[in-house]
Parts: sequence; structure tokens; C-alpha cells
Amino acid sequence: MSTIDEKLEPIYAEVLRRNPAEVEFHQAVREVLDSLGTVVAKHPDYADGALIERICEPERQIIFRVPWVDDKGQVQINRGFRVEFNSALGPYKGGLRFHPSVLLGTVKFLGFEQVFKNALTGLPIGGGKGGSDFDPKGRSEGEIMRFCQSFMTELYRHIGEHTDVPAGDIGVGQRELGYMFGQYKRITNRYESGVLTGKGLTWGGSKVRTEATGYGAVYFVSEMLKSRGLDFDGRTVVVSGSGNVAVYTIEKILSLGGKVVACSDSAGYVVDKRGIDLDLLKEIKETRRARIADYAEIRRDGAQFVPNGTIWDVPCDVAMPCATQNELTGSDARTLVKNRVIAVGEGANMPCTPEAVRAFQDAGVLFGPGKATNAGGVATSALEMQQNASRDSWSFEDTEARLANIMRGIHERCAETADAYGDPGNYVAGANIAGFIRVAEAMRALGV
Ligand code: GLU
Repeated sequence: MSTIDEKLEPIYAEVLRRNPAEVEFHQAVREVLDSLGTVVAKHPDYADGALIERICEPERQIIFRVPWVDDKGQVQINRGFRVEFNSALGPYKGGLRFHPSVLLGTVKFLGFEQVFKNALTGLPIGGGKGGSDFDPKGRSEGEIMRFCQSFMTELYRHIGEHTDVPAGDIGVGQRELGYMFGQYKRITNRYESGVLTGKGLTWGGSKVRTEATGYGAVYFVSEMLKSRGLDFDGRTVVVSGSGNVAVYTIEKILSLGGKVVACSDSAGYVVDKRGIDLDLLKEIKETRRARIADYAEIRRDGAQFVPNGTIWDVPCDVAMPCATQNELTGSDARTLVKNRVIAVGEGANMPCTPEAVRAFQDAGVLFGPGKATNAGGVATSALEMQQNASRDSWSFEDTEARLANIMRGIHERCAETADAYGDPGNYVAGANIAGFIRVAEAMRALGV
């Protein structure tokens, strides 16, 4: 493990003490604190006023019971969470994740990351995250609807367009947001479009929001490649996952002339040497809501489903982990380096372990951390809030141009900050420091 600045050590010790066993949260905090050593050395005042300690402690953590009735008439109980982490820059903003692995520590790590990510976009949004340990897999349409309604029956009292604005994440897409928005409207008697983002286009959503995280991630990696005079054209790419982020990452890579040879879901990965057929992938994942194994079965020649093993064994020029946290280990990173990977962009939140990140950086691989690379999703959510506030709706072209501009800005901020703090090319340090400074300045201005 890297060494932590001695001024920051007690802060980390306190985070460990206050949040026992929340290893992902510890990991996320540790990574940021590791980057802040040079900041407190250059500007000791950032260590004053418990500023960094306050940033590591969520403003509010809500845990609630979510009772609902399944198709057999049985009552089921899940746990719901919303961690309202930091509102110095604007209303809490961040997605909801429905997955059986979700615990308070998961939501806290995601909320913490969100604070810095949202700050990096330059837009007026604070950071938060929520979710539930509900598993949508195998549930009927009616069960999903009843769960979402019950979830919102408690959540509605904590959110609002000026307070806290949830969106989707793993397990929560437009369908789930629709059921939640419907319940919010029913309970409050308000058509408050700006209370949720990621909405459907017929009920207040923004064009490009569906594509935004994936497209934005590819824009960010393009900028990194450009810094070395390279681009996506003719490059072989591996994209893990096959959800919303992965699908639109693949779409944008293809439009730039890249070739995606593998993608995955939790059951395994598929390799298609001819290049992933995007229409077939969309049909399987978005229309049929089926498994990636079906892809190889339908595509047959040349496509192979691998149920066990790691997708990172597939050689590529660019790797884009778009599935979930800690999916790419130190050993995966060493394999990728051995296979001469040039760039890695995190489409998911914290998909590379700290050991993997170090392996990439030591080998001189361009590495884009999630809080910069995948910020296009939440940035476009902020554009959705702007449209809702002005009761306006922008064209696809205009919205995408704004997204591209925001991603270029994030890249520039990361690169310039890394330079200014003596670590050129280190996008992790650049993202953490630039995000931190923006939040810290606002917090200081607003008082204790
Ligand atoms: N869940 C996404 C993220 O991790 C999007 C959040 C949002 O749009 O508010 O950034």
C-alpha cells in the first residue's frame, strides 16, 4: 500500500473507526487521501478546520424498510438506503442501485466518489447515492413496480428538485425510474420533473441521457489517447459488462473506428473476433432482457461464450471496465500490461483494485479513473435538470455537443491539476485534487 501523509493519517484512522468493515468505502477514501498529500504540503490551510474530515463524513444517512408483496402474495422485506453525502455545490445528486450486494458501505463508497465526480463536471451538483439490496433478476414486471412504489413511499420525503435528485445505476433504468416518478407524483400531487433524472423522453427526460455515461467515457479516453497523438481508429477494445454503460461505450467506440472484441455479464464473457454485433447485443440485453450467453448461441461462428475465467485475458489496445467495483484485479492488470494495453478507462465506479491501478501507472499505461471517465452520465443528468427547470427540451445534437465539451473540460482539469501538483499524466491525482479543491472551497465559504 502507498504511504499516507502524516497530517492525513488521523483522518483515515477515524474513518476506519467510524465505519467498521466498510471496505469499499475505506478503499475510496484511502485513494483520495493518498492524492491529497501534495495538496496539504502546498496549501497547509486545507488541513485546517477539519475540512477533510468533514468531506469524509456524509451529511446524512437514511436507512429504511421496504416491504412489498410478491406474485405469490408473500410479503418481502428489503432494505433501502440514501446517503446524502455533500451539498456544498448543489442538491445531492447520484443514482440508485438495486443489487443484492448493496449494503450501507457500498452506498457510502459510491456517494463519496460521486461528490468528487460531480465537482469535476463543473456543474452545480452535490453528491449522494442510494439503493437497495433488492434483486431485480427474475422478478416480474408487477413485482418490480410494487417494489419501486414501496421504495418511493419512504424515499419521497427526503428528496426534491432543490434537495436531492436521484437517478439510475445498476438495476435501475428508465422503467424503474418511471414507477418511482409515478409514485412520487401520486403522493405529493406535484409534477416535479427535476426530482429524478434519467427519465423517459415523453415524461421530462433528456436526449442523450441514456447514451451519456458510455459516450462520455469514450470521449474521455479519446482525449487521453490524443495526449499521446493516438486515437480509437483500428484499435482493439475489450469492454466488460453489457448493461447501459457498456452498450453505449461500445456504440461510440464503433463510430470512431474501434473494434470491440469482448463483453460480459455476471455469468461469463463472450469473445467475438469479428467484432461485437451491437444490434444483436442491444436486442438481447435491452429488448429481451436476456443473458450474454445467448449472444454466442445466436451469433454462432466465431463467437464464443466463456463461463469461467476473466475477460481481461483477451488481448486489447484499450480496456474499458464497465461492470462493477473491483472487477479488475492486480493480476488482470499485469496480464493486460503484458498484452501491451495502451489505455484503460473506468466506465464503472472503481472497477480496478488499487493494485491494478498501480500496475497500470507503473507500466505507463494511460489510466482514466471512474470519477473522471464516467462523469458524462451525471453531467447529462445535470443538463436534464436544466431543461426541466426551464421547461425546455434540447436537440440530440445540441445535448451531445454539450456532453463532449464537458468531457473535454474534465480531461483538461485533470491533466492540468496533475501537472500543477507535480505528477504529470496521473489522472487519478488530477481528478481527486481538482474535485477536492472545488468542494473544499465551497464548504469553506459556507461555514461550519
Ligand atoms: N449512477 C450514475 C453515476 O454513477 C449517474 C448518477 C446520476 O445521473 O445522478 O454517476
